[in-house]
Amino acid sequence: MDSVGVVPAAPDAGPGPAWQSKCPWGAPNTTSISCSLADVMSEQLAKELQLEEENAAFPEVVAVAEGPFITGENIDTSSDLMLAQMLQMEFDREYDAQLRREEKKINGDSKVSISFENYRKVHPYDSDSSEDEVDWQDTRHDPYRADKPTTTPRRGFIGKGKDITTKHDEVVCGRKNTARMENFAPEFQVGDGIGMDLKLSNQVFNALKQHAYSEERRSARLHEKKEHSTAEKAVDPKTRLLLYKMVNAGMLETITGCISTGKESVVFHAYGGKSATEDKVIPPECAIKVFKTTLNEFKNRDKYIKDDYRFKDRFSKLNPRKIIRMWAEKEMHNLTRMQNAGIPCPQVVILKKHVLVMSFIGKDQVPAPKLKDVTLSSEDMKKAYYQTLNMMQQLYKECNLVHADLSEYNMLWHDGKVWLIDVSQSVEPTHPHGLEFLFRDCRNVSQFFQKGGVAEALNERELFNAVSGLNITADNEVDFQAEIEALEKMNEDHVQNHGKKLSTFSSDGDPPIYDE
Ligand code: ADP
Ligand code: MN
Repeated sequence: MDSVGVVPAAPDAGPGPAWQSKCPWGAPNTTSISCSLADVMSEQLAKELQLEEENAAFPEVVAVAEGPFITGENIDTSSDLMLAQMLQMEFDREYDAQLRREEKKINGDSKVSISFENYRKVHPYDSDSSEDEVDWQDTRHDPYRADKPTTTPRRGFIGKGKDITTKHDEVVCGRKNTARMENFAPEFQVGDGIGMDLKLSNQVFNALKQHAYSEERRSARLHEKKEHSTAEKAVDPKTRLLLYKMVNAGMLETITGCISTGKESVVFHAYGGKSATEDKVIPPECAIKVFKTTLNEFKNRDKYIKDDYRFKDRFSKLNPRKIIRMWAEKEMHNLTRMQNAGIPCPQVVILKKHVLVMSFIGKDQVPAPKLKDVTLSSEDMKKAYYQTLNMMQQLYKECNLVHADLSEYNMLWHDGKVWLIDVSQSVEPTHPHGLEFLFRDCRNVSQFFQKGGVAEALNERELFNAVSGLNITADNEVDFQAEIEALEKMNEDHVQNHGKKLSTFSSDGDPPIYDE
């Protein structure tokens, strides 16, 4: 951090005339503020003055937009960790700004330019400023980056006979070592040896290299240290800051811990705080679903979203990071629809990028058990079945949705009823595979309740018809499925022939399907 190139903000030492005239930087154009002794001693004033000066000294830094949760006034300075993180962020920004300046200086008007991109600090928090920026993780491990050109051919020597120069030649080697110092991170001071005909012995070079690497590792460790609890480790730094911001803004009281870590999401429990707006009430307990930004996990979900007409226009233009946000967005919209229909489900509190905050189903940090984990009396089991049947119909008819991952794993038992969760993958029935998803849901539900001893439980085909209102008469699974696929195909052709102009996703949570 020491060679960051940060101009330290001059501490406010009470600008008196004597000091001003001696100041090597010239007279600062501070407007003198007259105030009482009490004011002078006031921390508040000190902070304000400090802030004012920093603003003047670092206009570039100040221009970086803050997230909506952190504003100048509501920064809660009681959290050391938060402060440390914000400071680090600030340092990283300044460091990168400096790096950019150096890059610019070196490149000048030259047609060939070099880039310090790889030396940018870890600054995962700083992404609000631009939606289209390249992810920091990507820039650090760019698989497309060309290898550095090497001068000694593979065989290890140049020339012939007595003119042969091998790669072990002392002079060549020494020069090369000197040149290779350029590969060290820019903050690593190597003097101006690179420009001279300096020959570094292998021993010296290796020592330097070791040092450069250990410095880099040290800097990396500094960033890692910010991780504290195991719960926090479940998410990347960017997400962690997002969560801190929510706590910091008072929206959440505390994030107590992790409820679940799945392949595609991590769910936390939190106590709700105060809402910034009067009209919105934050539930006393919240569940925070963090959609994992590890892109690979979402690859196999493509089929849900790619063919979803609501997303068709957007899908092709999006980068993977945005697609993950879309999952969160989708869950939010679907939950809102369900809420509107009166289906028991978590209530959406807020969506922030890939983080969805909703009401917690459960009590005192204990999440409601999944239907698969709870032992119900036969009476409750029957009740649960009829309720599920009802909800599936409502979901289909009123919400125009198919859950698409409905099973005893995504139904919670709470307050004597079934609650539906996990609806990010839910689709509209007209989705090219919508009916297949529905049939799968029906099979899961039907099997679960039949095994659970509910004699009245419809079989999967009957359930499918009862939910969809379709009247597929096939009396065996294979034919039934074939008819479903035929229907989907018909619908698809219809859409193809009649055009599929899409309305954009509306923010009120009730996106229309295609209009003809
Ligand atoms: P995943 O895609 O990882 O299955 P889920 O939405 O099903 O994501 O959440 C995983 C688990 O977290 C659930 O099985 C449930 O135990 C818990 N969970 C999720 N949302 C809530 C909530 N609102 N209230 C209580 N527990 C929840
Ligand atoms: Mn789930």
